[in-house]
Amino acid sequence: MLKALRSWREQRAVERHAIPDALWQLTLLRYPFLAQRSVDDLVELRRLSSLFLASKEFHGVDGFEVTDEVAVAVAAQACLPVLRLGLSWYDSFVGIVMHAGEVVAQRTYQDEDGVVHEYDEELAGEAMEGGPLMLAWNAVAVSDDPAEFGADAVFNVVIHEFAHVIDMRDGLADGVPPLDPDARERWISVIDAEWEGFCKRIDAGEATLIDPYGGEAVEEFFAVAVEAFFVAPAAMRAEEPAMYALLAGFFGQDPAP
Ligand SMILES: [Zn+2]
Repeated sequence: MLKALRSWREQRAVERHAIPDALWQLTLLRYPFLAQRSVDDLVELRRLSSLFLASKEFHGVDGFEVTDEVAVAVAAQACLPVLRLGLSWYDSFVGIVMHAGEVVAQRTYQDEDGVVHEYDEELAGEAMEGGPLMLAWNAVAVSDDPAEFGADAVFNVVIHEFAHVIDMRDGLADGVPPLDPDARERWISVIDAEWEGFCKRIDAGEATLIDPYGGEAVEEFFAVAVEAFFVAPAAMRAEEPAMYALLAGFFGQDPAP
């Protein structure tokens, strides 16, 4: 009975937030890594995107207008990682704050001698535990066609920030999503080894498909690896097979053609 009620409610939400054909096609055109998915995957992605739009609240900052085009671009990319896991992975927050461009955040850090330094950091997005999630539209809008990357690393801010949300579901941003104890132990041994190898390649000046920003911390390595997994899966599998297999198992998806 409860299950029937839930599916009836979901169906109503999907109908109320149905994405028009023209807008859906435009979104697939803009993000070719979405378009290359199977027909079945795209039907489910469109359904989840409608549920996402029904359950999240967008706020434009400084006059930025969150049009349907903007909201659907975010929803479709955000829902790809949870295509098999389900939208409940994003239950910890409701608000999505959208800026037109990158946000300058003032940061401070204390060095080994106790001296406090101040610096500005430009943010394309930010995920905080308990939300809201922040995104800069100019970074979201950047075309993410792997064919255009050349020697550059993959960049996808929406998938990056939602990967952090998935990681932080257990309250910790540590590159380890919630897992049962055995799987958790295995996960840590794989990701630690892969991260170490990745950092060595970055230090050696090697060009990598995964954003070198992943060298900052293991939780950032997780987020940039998830970006590459969904945006350029075949290249990711070739370059980081162990990391690809780890993510394929967790997300229940094997997107490389
Ligand atoms: Zn990050």
